[in-house]
Amino acid sequence: MIDRMDTYLFQGKRKKMLEELRHKGIKEEVLTAMFKVPRHVFYDSALVHFAYDENNAFHIGEGQTISRPSTVAIQTELLDIKKGDKVLEIGTGCGYQTAVLLEMGAKVWSIERQSKLYEKTRLFLPQLGYNARFYHGDGYKGLPLQAPFDKIIVTCGAPFIPKDLLLQLKENGGMMVIPVGEGEVQVMNIIVRKTGMEFDKRELGNFKFVPMLKDKR
Ligand code: SAH
Repeated sequence: MIDRMDTYLFQGKRKKMLEELRHKGIKEEVLTAMFKVPRHVFYDSALVHFAYDENNAFHIGEGQTISRPSTVAIQTELLDIKKGDKVLEIGTGCGYQTAVLLEMGAKVWSIERQSKLYEKTRLFLPQLGYNARFYHGDGYKGLPLQAPFDKIIVTCGAPFIPKDLLLQLKENGGMMVIPVGEGEVQVMNIIVRKTGMEFDKRELGNFKFVPMLKDKR
């Protein structure tokens, strides 16, 4: 049980991880939010000591992985969160990215396709004081009833950009960060909605995510 506590040892490891991210150019605001979230508590107790290793995208059950620290940092920074932003997250997973978004001051609506992960995380995050709205559903469809969103973050590799999600972005500046690609590697896309069906799109480097799958189970 003691391993789950946020000891000096874990805080030290977290500082070191953040130092590496600082060298990569990640903004202070994002680093501060990531310092507040004890990443190791999202890991099985036998694996906590790997929680702060950059090169590990560890398994969180149901064949899924927690995104590596630099991926979380980059997606968070790209989203340019303003306090009170309404954010839709596709792929709740273990909830680590959700917690970082909440620490940035966002209000988060999060969808997970896997029922077991959904159940686990919906119960676990509030125990850490993180309150988001959790949904067991299909991320391709988004949450039309809760739209529009200031920001949308997709944390699984999408074979294409889902049109339903584009339509749930706020007009005049709503932004989506989504890794797109059918194979093992995806390209990070940053999409900004202008008016109506007009969008700006830019691409930023290659990433590896677990695939965005159809339908819930
Ligand atoms: N942000 C998460 C990343 C988890 S990996 C974390 O830090 O833990 C991506 C997650 O997306 C997995 O949990 C997977 O089950 C989920 N996923 C895959 N396809 C999905 C879909 N269509 N809708 C919602 N979630 C999906």
